[in-house]
Amino acid sequence: MTNIILLGPPGAGKGTQAKRLVDERAMVQLSTGDMLREAKTSGTEMGNRVAAVMERGELVTDEIVIGLIREKLISGGAKGGYIFDGFPRTLKQADALGDLMQELGQQVDFVIELQVKDEVLVDRIVGRAEEASRAGQPVRADDNAESLKTRLMAYYKQTSPLIGYYYAKGGLLAVDGLNDMDTVSADISKILDAR
Ligand code: AMP
Repeated sequence: MTNIILLGPPGAGKGTQAKRLVDERAMVQLSTGDMLREAKTSGTEMGNRVAAVMERGELVTDEIVIGLIREKLISGGAKGGYIFDGFPRTLKQADALGDLMQELGQQVDFVIELQVKDEVLVDRIVGRAEEASRAGQPVRADDNAESLKTRLMAYYKQTSPLIGYYYAKGGLLAVDGLNDMDTVSADISKILDAR
């Protein structure tokens, strides 16, 4: 069982790569963004509480996302390992994840940083919104220029320190996220298979 964190700014391709790993390796994707959007759609009290924060592109509280991850990890069931996608996003979340894994007798094996230039991120996210709109699919409420600016700022202020954190802890590896999806997948596979 291999547990990994996919780290990178919005639009780096974390979700896309996580889904591929689920299909190819029977890993389980734990995306706090998906969990929060689900809570919003099903109209739970928590979902309603976080909706406006998410729409603005700010981070929801550490307590909420740590609670969501704790619940999933405790219920177990990831034979192939977990892919943490969009979590942790703050140092407090990273510490909490370390504690949780230790409690469960597990560990984070790799932290894979998807490196992408900022100009590309903006184009990708705007493209994602346009594509969804053309295909008649729902566009994410936070995939607009204003929220994107906030999301990028949240990434640089709150999440990017995790790169140094995991470098110091050990296990940080970088993948060039500017390559096409298949190349990025192949690079991630190389890391996992080298274990
Ligand atoms: P994502 O789908 O990962 O881009 O997340 C969408 C939004 O959900 C973010 O902009 C945040 O508002 C919220 N969110 C997702 N994961 C976290 C997290 N680990 N910590 C705080 N907020 C989060």
